[in-house]
Amino acid sequence: MTSNAQDIRTLNSRIDAMREDMVSSMSKMVSIKAISPLSGGTGEAKRADFLEQKLNSFGVKVKRYDYKDESGAIRSNLIAILGSKDRTLWIVAHMDTVAEGDIALWVHDPFKAHVGGGKIFGRGTNDNGEALIGAMFAIKALADSGIDPKYNYGLVLVADEELGSKFGIQKLIKEGLFNKTDMFLVPDSNTKSGRDIEIAEKSILWLKITVNGKQVHASTPEKGVNAQRYSSLLMVDLDELLHKKYNARSDMFDPGASTFEMTKHEKNVDSINIVPGKDVFYMDSRILPMYKTKDIIKDIKKLVSSPKYKQVKVKLEPIQQEDAPPPTDKNAEVFVAISDSIRKQLNVEPKAVGIGGGTCAAYFRREGWPAVVWGIGEDVAHQPNEFAYINDIVKCAKVFAAMFIQE
Ligand SMILES: [Zn+2]
Repeated sequence: MTSNAQDIRTLNSRIDAMREDMVSSMSKMVSIKAISPLSGGTGEAKRADFLEQKLNSFGVKVKRYDYKDESGAIRSNLIAILGSKDRTLWIVAHMDTVAEGDIALWVHDPFKAHVGGGKIFGRGTNDNGEALIGAMFAIKALADSGIDPKYNYGLVLVADEELGSKFGIQKLIKEGLFNKTDMFLVPDSNTKSGRDIEIAEKSILWLKITVNGKQVHASTPEKGVNAQRYSSLLMVDLDELLHKKYNARSDMFDPGASTFEMTKHEKNVDSINIVPGKDVFYMDSRILPMYKTKDIIKDIKKLVSSPKYKQVKVKLEPIQQEDAPPPTDKNAEVFVAISDSIRKQLNVEPKAVGIGGGTCAAYFRREGWPAVVWGIGEDVAHQPNEFAYINDIVKCAKVFAAMFIQE
């Protein structure tokens, strides 16, 4: 047996022995709410107190970063580091959860963990508790075994992920805690088998489109300009133009094409006999990263200034416009490391994928750092009766730990 295989066996048996401790730590964590004040909570400070204490008991270096938000609540972030190498592989999990939603839909108290059938139920067990607990016990297993890790194991437990990361990872990046050569794993998106590794995301463009015509009585439409007629024509034209011109496909994404959907439509006139002088609709677009959102806006501007629309004035307002950062390279060391670990620990052939965006990884990619998103489990985030399989928590810990073993 190679020393690598020997080390992995040692780590795995240590992690298996921690199963009960993982379940009780998760249970304790679930009982300490960590909901944003914007969703009616009090923030992450109390949960961070517990996790900080736990990490200290593991004998790793822990630092805490507390920030006060607009409501005056303390938003806490924790960092633990094992090793004294130049380079750090950071595993970034979030402590905060969404609220319980409709309490009537829960079988058990969402803030009192219920264990049964190999599962642990409660708000935040899946998103992001499973990976958080797995990552904590992976660092413990490495610390206890005395194995010299290939890179430093940096564990980051952040606040405020669910509502924009303003008091979480965005603050920590500004603190300058991370080095140029560091790498990032964000375990915040699951597949059942643990096959998919997310390395790319789509750009996002939300447009508000206001069509201004002239309001008149519906019996004499020739005296006015029906804004709704032109907004309807425009919806059809946009649908055709954008799907035709931005028609590239990528196997990495699901769906594999850019999407352009007309969504919200604002109420216009109150009466059936009035020709609306103003009509407002919205479009949600998720665009493959090879295209630029500003080019799409340019094309729409060109369309609405064509003779067909000369009777109306069309105003375009981007509500959200976020160009996707460049994808993480499949040759990046963090991608290779997690792929190897998935093969060894799960016996699964990993696949690089892209998603719609929306995890801490986007902030790292934007700074030019290699970042991957990975997880194993059910897709029950934010749902009533949210749960994690205990086996998946153990698997998370094993996949994380093996990334730090020398070849
Ligand atoms: Zn999450």
